[in-house]
Amino acid sequence: MALEPKTVTCQCGAEYRIRRPVHYCTACGRAVFYSEGYRRRDRLNNYYVYLAVAVVIGFVVYIFIEMIADPLLKM
Ligand SMILES: [Zn+2]
Repeated sequence: MALEPKTVTCQCGAEYRIRRPVHYCTACGRAVFYSEGYRRRDRLNNYYVYLAVAVVIGFVVYIFIEMIADPLLKM
């Protein structure tokens, strides 16, 4: 992915000349995005991660209930 070098300003005021979709500010650690479109895409990716984590937790709870709680209730 070749992007034109572009100067972006972090919320803390630091300026970076970047050619990647996202750069992590060395002064405050916040993510600085190349454009608004990349910021939106990054947020969408985060939602997918949260969704995946929620599914995994739900599955673990389901397995727990099936394997541990259910036999205990039947004793
Ligand atoms: Zn910063």
